[in-house]
Amino acid sequence: MSSSYSLSDFDLRSTPCRVDVLATFQAVDFALSQGDIEQKLSDQYDRVTVYRTLKTFLTQGLLHKVLDDNGGVKYAICKELCHQGDHTHQHDHVHFKCNQCGQTTCLETVHIPSIQLPAGFTKQESNLLIQGVCNSCQ
Ligand SMILES: [Zn+2]
Ligand SMILES: [Zn+2]
Ligand SMILES: [Zn+2]
Repeated sequence: MSSSYSLSDFDLRSTPCRVDVLATFQAVDFALSQGDIEQKLSDQYDRVTVYRTLKTFLTQGLLHKVLDDNGGVKYAICKELCHQGDHTHQHDHVHFKCNQCGQTTCLETVHIPSIQLPAGFTKQESNLLIQGVCNSCQ
């Protein structure tokens, strides 16, 4: 399920931190928080460098945000090259958080149903987090 694109596909200059952060996401199938990434990279880079890298990746469409149930934020790799085309970077898929292993996964094929908003309200993004037991923990 992981994607195989590289920094050059996004016109991003290659830096050791960018390479390592991208590789970290490509090695797993679930969303990671900044703390998870720092831990996986054994604190090789300072927080600010990791934070800036995540911000760049979000802007360029390599990653999207996943809201966690505890109010925190995780990041998940974009499976399709959603930075291309109209650059809407929309992710109307459902995220699933497993209460046993604690991992949050993108359910790319499950879309958030379109919701009718009252007049005067404009949708910018939707987030739907489903919690339960994942297929590896069943
Ligand atoms: Zn995206
Ligand atoms: Zn699980
Ligand atoms: Zn996702």
